[in-house]
Amino acid sequence: AARSTEESQRELAAKGVRFVFAQFTDIHGAAKGKLIPLAHLDDIVSPGAGFSGPSIWGTGLPRTGPRSEYYGRADLSTLKIMPWLPGYARVVLDGHVAGVPFDACPRQVLRKQVERLAQRGWTLNTGLEPEFFLLQKGADGYDAEAADTLEKPSYDTKSLLRRRGFIEKLTTSLDQCGLGVFQIDHEDATGQFEVNYKYADALKAADNFMLFKMAAQHIAEEEGMLFSMMPKPFADRPGSGLHFHLSLANVAGKPLFALGEETEPGGRDLGLSSLAYHFMAGLLNHAPALTALCAPTVNSYKRLMCGQSQSGTSWAPAFIGYGDNNRTTVARVVYQRIEWRLPDSSANPYLALAGVIAAGLDGIDRALAAGEPVNQDVYEMSDAARAELGLKLLPQNLGEAAAALKADTRLIAALGTDIVNEFVALKSAEWIEYSQHVSAWETKRYLDRF
Ligand code: GLU
Ligand code: MG
Ligand code: MG
Repeated sequence: AARSTEESQRELAAKGVRFVFAQFTDIHGAAKGKLIPLAHLDDIVSPGAGFSGPSIWGTGLPRTGPRSEYYGRADLSTLKIMPWLPGYARVVLDGHVAGVPFDACPRQVLRKQVERLAQRGWTLNTGLEPEFFLLQKGADGYDAEAADTLEKPSYDTKSLLRRRGFIEKLTTSLDQCGLGVFQIDHEDATGQFEVNYKYADALKAADNFMLFKMAAQHIAEEEGMLFSMMPKPFADRPGSGLHFHLSLANVAGKPLFALGEETEPGGRDLGLSSLAYHFMAGLLNHAPALTALCAPTVNSYKRLMCGQSQSGTSWAPAFIGYGDNNRTTVARVVYQRIEWRLPDSSANPYLALAGVIAAGLDGIDRALAAGEPVNQDVYEMSDAARAELGLKLLPQNLGEAAAALKADTRLIAALGTDIVNEFVALKSAEWIEYSQHVSAWETKRYLDRF
């Protein structure tokens, strides 16, 4: 049974909580909010915490009148203490404008897609895999060079243990919030790590990811480091992804992607049901538009460049295809689920997951075909071999991706025109501003050349 506000207040007060962080996520994926003294928790349940609508990125709300006020209403099921910040709890807000759920609130956009799944008796088991850099402050800005300089640092134990202060605090905190951390490792780039925690339904997975970011940022700062989710902070090192592990289950928890007695075989040897293949086909079919939602910064495309980074294999996708345990395509089939390797952590997790669900459902509703699996190393293949397999490149920059989203009428119809229009406008402007910028690389290369 849902707890009443007073029950929640009593419980939190007994645990020493004085403030509630009333938090929502803007269109760019940044955590925003207000601090609410615990005694005022009921105000943010109804009418909600008030914010100036036009001051929030991506709302498109006017400066005056009844639609200028954005109310964030607390979803009490998300109320949890923030163990890394004694005396503070966090609650997630749902956007409301003029008394009704707000269409351009990313959490409302995801709620709508989760509801479409629920109507069919389904839930999406969603595991997010954040990769990130931990950087130390040096003479000019942040870098990791001081402590950590191996040529191929994947799974390095020494540099992992140097970060154990951060890792222990983060793991303990996330576990107390119910995230269930099960693996922490050093990744392929100097200063890069990954934390894995238990999957959840899509809405909770997005809420948990925002909690993870808030905890990691704060703990790193206290340890004198910068926690960075920039997709490609260094040209000569691999970038950071945010892979989505996806599988549908029915409400009773029965997996629907795994080939079982009651699921229809997909006709190929990967142990997947036909439902899984249609869902995957939806992802592949809408991959260009999903790229805008999953890789939404100009920097994202430096991660997605084909295969080899200056320091070896990047393991980031460049081509639209899937394969059995194939880390070189945008989708990898692993343990009877789909690993969607496109996203990075500059994505708004609510919008990226909403896009993924809408695309997957479209694949199911139109019974789209995923085509043949690709089991070769796509990085290594010649252009001719790729063309023969029909492997298409992902959009190569934010401008192309934004244009692909703008053109994807099915995805727009599912997600809502207001949010997509806002998103496309912001991202197109970001792309134009970047394109017009003259970089130090250009002046160095061309200024005195001709
Ligand atoms: N860092 C890679 C990426 O950007 C992924 C490495 C891995 O497979 O864990 O997607
Ligand atoms: Mg990884
Ligand atoms: Mg992964």
